[in-house]
Amino acid sequence: MDRSLRNVLVVSFGFLLLFTAYGGLQNLQSSLYSEEGLGVAALSTLYGSVLLSSMLLPPILIRRFGCKWTIVGSMCCYVTFSLGNFHASWYTLIPTSILLGLGAAPLWSAQSTYLTVMGNAHAQEVSKLGRDVVNQYFGIFFLIFQSSGVWGNLISSLVLGQTPTQEAKPEENFEYCGAKDCLLVTLPTNSTHRPSQELIYTLLGIYTASGVLAILLIAVCLEAREDSASQGEAETKAPPFLLTLLSTFRLFRDKRLCLLVLLPTYSGLQQGFLSGEYTRSFATCVLGIHFVGYVMICFSAASALCSLLFGKLSQYTGRRAIYVLGAATHLSCILALLLWRPRSSQMAVFFLIPGLWGVGDAVWQTQNNALYGILFEKNKEAAFANYRLWEALGFVMAFGYSSFLCVSVKLYILLGVLVLAMVTYGTVEYLESRSPDRNPSFKTEDEPPGATLKPLVFRVDKTTPKVVQSVLLERGWDKFDEQERNVEDWNLYWRTSSFRMIEHINIKPWQRLNHHPGTTTLTRKDRLARHLQRMRRMYGAALYEFVPETFIMPSDYTKFIAEYFREKQTRGAKHGYWICKPAELSRGRGIMIFSDIKDLIFSDAYIVQKYICNPLLVGRYKCDLRLYVCVTGFKPLTIYVYKEGLVRFATEKFDLHDLKNCYAHLTNSSINKSGVSYEKIKEVVGRGCKWTLSRFFSYLRNGDVDDLLLWQKINHMVILTVLAMAPSVPFAANCFELFGFDILIDDNLKPWLLEVNHSPALSLDCSTDVSVKRKLIHDIIELICLNGLRSEGKESRKAASGNPDPLFSRGARRGRGGPHTHLPYGSLLRFTGRTHSRTSPATEKAVSTCPTRPRTTQLRETANGQDLLLSSREAPKIKASLRGRRTPGPTLIPYVTLTQPHPCRTKSPPSVPDTGPEPDPQAGSFTLIFPFNEATSGASRNGLDVRRIIQELQKLVSKRHPHAPGSGAKRRRRALRTQGERQVQHLLPAAQQHMV
Ligand code: ADP
Repeated sequence: MDRSLRNVLVVSFGFLLLFTAYGGLQNLQSSLYSEEGLGVAALSTLYGSVLLSSMLLPPILIRRFGCKWTIVGSMCCYVTFSLGNFHASWYTLIPTSILLGLGAAPLWSAQSTYLTVMGNAHAQEVSKLGRDVVNQYFGIFFLIFQSSGVWGNLISSLVLGQTPTQEAKPEENFEYCGAKDCLLVTLPTNSTHRPSQELIYTLLGIYTASGVLAILLIAVCLEAREDSASQGEAETKAPPFLLTLLSTFRLFRDKRLCLLVLLPTYSGLQQGFLSGEYTRSFATCVLGIHFVGYVMICFSAASALCSLLFGKLSQYTGRRAIYVLGAATHLSCILALLLWRPRSSQMAVFFLIPGLWGVGDAVWQTQNNALYGILFEKNKEAAFANYRLWEALGFVMAFGYSSFLCVSVKLYILLGVLVLAMVTYGTVEYLESRSPDRNPSFKTEDEPPGATLKPLVFRVDKTTPKVVQSVLLERGWDKFDEQERNVEDWNLYWRTSSFRMIEHINIKPWQRLNHHPGTTTLTRKDRLARHLQRMRRMYGAALYEFVPETFIMPSDYTKFIAEYFREKQTRGAKHGYWICKPAELSRGRGIMIFSDIKDLIFSDAYIVQKYICNPLLVGRYKCDLRLYVCVTGFKPLTIYVYKEGLVRFATEKFDLHDLKNCYAHLTNSSINKSGVSYEKIKEVVGRGCKWTLSRFFSYLRNGDVDDLLLWQKINHMVILTVLAMAPSVPFAANCFELFGFDILIDDNLKPWLLEVNHSPALSLDCSTDVSVKRKLIHDIIELICLNGLRSEGKESRKAASGNPDPLFSRGARRGRGGPHTHLPYGSLLRFTGRTHSRTSPATEKAVSTCPTRPRTTQLRETANGQDLLLSSREAPKIKASLRGRRTPGPTLIPYVTLTQPHPCRTKSPPSVPDTGPEPDPQAGSFTLIFPFNEATSGASRNGLDVRRIIQELQKLVSKRHPHAPGSGAKRRRRALRTQGERQVQHLLPAAQQHMV
């Protein structure tokens, strides 16, 4: 059984045990403690505190303790309630009810969050749609959970059934049972036969034990799996409960929500009626308390089975038919209860009514949730909070007026609310059908998909990462199928291996490839070393000091020997350390670290590199950064760096005395995930072997490290590295390249480039991977769509079909694309920004460098009716703007730091020798780092002027850091070292520094 399913089962059985106890107990409250209405008072207090806690507690607790421990804590509140029942009085039941109520909302929110996180993570692994797996997990959960009603009530009936059989009561004693029950007279009915205290204790003992078992099951067997994205956010943002609260109420501006409040209210009222009134005034009054359990089993069983059935059925019948069925069932039940004079001889009716009630209840449970989810997709957290609020209010009302009103009045209230709820629901359906634009997915539920815009199409092969497929499907793209489609009918081809040159040549304007030809020269270790050595020779070693000294074997063997002995002489007894890496392999395969040359073994293509033996340690563990860089074009050169990334840790403590221990010296997760310490909680690092980059930077900030300076250095390094290979890359249109830069930070906070990966790993091994890589793919799609993918696709299709395209003209009207939009090849040029014809200098000067195009994907996905999918994600950031250096939180704005003053703010008229648009400064979390000013933009357009670009970079560096390379490198290094040492002292325990 896979891990995530096991966790779903653990949660489900935990809830089953807990609610077996609590459900049974709740149904007995009104019957057991009917004196002075204590039972129902306890229940209404309970739901009152649910109401309060659902507004405030869940987000805070889940963020603070994680889902698992929130569930455990909340379950403890439930058990306290069982304990309170052992000595039932106003002083025990009311406080424990409040506690239970406070625990209820966090319990349910944590459960939903946990299942959603698990479902999404699993969907990534098996390349399915997230919502499908999440639905499936909820289905499993509810099937198991709903049966708790059966077990809890069965236990209560079996235990209480041991009450000595009462002699049959005369019929007239039942006169005041049923709808006529006004709680005004103490009836000499079966209800007065309170079970013996011993039986009650036995029952409470069983319930308490079941609750404790539930807690143990969750605490011991449930894997703590949190949404690392929200964890990361939690570290940096203020707790958003006030925001949640605000957004819960702000949603009332939507009149659909106002109209719908009666649905959840009715749901609360009807559940409250059945467990509070029906159990007392019908079942207990006529049959006796020991029948309550059996009666409620019918309700729970019908509700569980019908929930499953209606979930499926609504796909065929549509939601409205199911609502009509639910309303009709409850309506007839209410009327029957009003008219019925219950008698003990009519046993079947006592079971039939709760069974039918369960059918109706299943409608409210399944359809209400689905309706809220669909209507308020963009604000679903607030909408669900709202839903719970009104439902809790329904419960409070039901239990609140329980001891004051006659059952018949309560039935009339139910009837009234039901009718009103149906009328308002009908109004919402009507409004929605009249306003298809408002929510396209609402409309499509009952209607066949209309002739709206065709989705974009992606093409894959067997090497395509699963996460890419699932993200594209989630965004509403179609998968290319050779059998069904024209061979050219796709928009994006994503695969791990490079494309053949012929595939690049045959590319169509509406198509994109995820590789650029010739980029592997940067990603083979020996070739990268060669490129960088050449750059060092041409532009000075100081500029490229971020590369550890490297020798390419076997050609550099003699040079290495000379260097080895030279160093040995200067260092004396102190060891120097080297690392030997196969040029073509990855994932740490074939790597060895040595200090003594006699340990050096290599065959063909290897590199020997200076081993950075003073890495920055986090809790004594070595780490390196995986930075994602997307080059959307080489001519002109356009580089984006991804703000988020991964930090990969070794899983054993760094120790230079043990060079053979790959778990201490290599940070590849492919190695470390099989280490014995992987699952252990490691000092500072915690469990596993990965952090997000933002978590790492916030850790640095907490140690008072100048993370922004570090980020700038990393960006310079990226630009200088890409510049090393850019001139040798052939021109190719409509492609992009995602690189994975591996960067090691030493204890002087100096970044070192270890290697550049082609097709960086996109497998999802842990929740950190899920949160980083999924969004990464989303943002790459943003990036390529910003570069005109949709308009090109539509344009070519339009040309082929001759159909006018409303979306396209809308996009064009909004100024998207400009003159290029009408030329198929124009868009191709726009993607790479390449221009064949030069305009006059005057025109060049007039071209603004400030990008103004709107977000293409937003236009596209809205028009496709998939804005709901997109909207659940973080909206693309606004253009990078000049901000203070120390922004709160991990937001890093490298473009700005590199480019002050920002091109958009430049006072002098911008001069770009090109009519093509400037690249967008931001797409999702991708930030443009090159070109970083007009000069570099110009220097990269008409043949890459590397020297000019490097001069600009040096100018920028020396302006910002007067002691930068080229202007007193030694002094700068010294300053950096002292600064770094000072900063690192905050981070590293003394022992760790000693070891380093
Ligand atoms: P691979 O492609 O096999 O992953 P890398 O060059 O990325 O090869 O090296 C693997 C790991 O070895 C890195 O993640 C890093 O932890 C460590 N490493 C590589 N080169 C050095 C170096 N020069 N100094 C210190 N550690 C290094």
